[in-house]
Amino acid sequence: MITYQEWEQEELQVEIDNPDKGALNALKWAYKEYGEDIIYACSFGIEGIVLIDLIHQVNPKAKIVFLDTNVHFKETYETIDKVKEKYPDLQIELKQPSLTLEEQSKLYGEELWKTNPNECCRLRKVLPLEQALSGYSAWLSGLRREQSETRKNVQFINKDDRFQSIKVCPLIHWTWKDIWRYAHKHDLPYNPLHDQGYPSIGCAPCTKPAYTMDDLRSGRWTGNQKTECGLHG
Ligand code: SF4
Repeated sequence: MITYQEWEQEELQVEIDNPDKGALNALKWAYKEYGEDIIYACSFGIEGIVLIDLIHQVNPKAKIVFLDTNVHFKETYETIDKVKEKYPDLQIELKQPSLTLEEQSKLYGEELWKTNPNECCRLRKVLPLEQALSGYSAWLSGLRREQSETRKNVQFINKDDRFQSIKVCPLIHWTWKDIWRYAHKHDLPYNPLHDQGYPSIGCAPCTKPAYTMDDLRSGRWTGNQKTECGLHG
């Protein structure tokens, strides 16, 4: 495998001042390098939908997986339906956890997200992603450097020790404004909760409106030390 940097020098110079800030080049590299052997794990927030639109320009039949914890907002499921309608050729799978909510309650108690959110994320997100990625060499993610301290060093191509994979992140240089400018310009469907104070949307029991727009993820797991679900290191 050649590195992204090598490919960049050989074929195209990535100028982060380009409108897409290198995202399309990263995607072209990823699909050229991995072909059918790469999948996008999408949360269907606004970054996710922008990335879907970019992916669709490079590979209209790309594979996408959504980790369906069974406790997402109804608006999120409705957004997925709209995306499926707009891009009918994309292969979008809603990946289910091994345990139903009832089975999880019996084994771990009611509302595990309150008593042990790390375990709940492990069961309903991390293990399903592990299963979803097991058939692939690489995955795509919509991480942006601006999103949080823990994401500020993300590269276009990352060695992912957690999932024994390569994680490609085409949107690393995009700002929140870039995302919305693109979404409005291209009239993309998006989750209406974004207009109600939720910049970052996860599972319903663990997501509140952000208390400050200086930290777009401040509505996630509020009142808890937890800031990540465990998918990104
Ligand atoms: Fe469970 Fe909350 Fe994690 Fe969703 S975000 S898997 S409900 S702890």
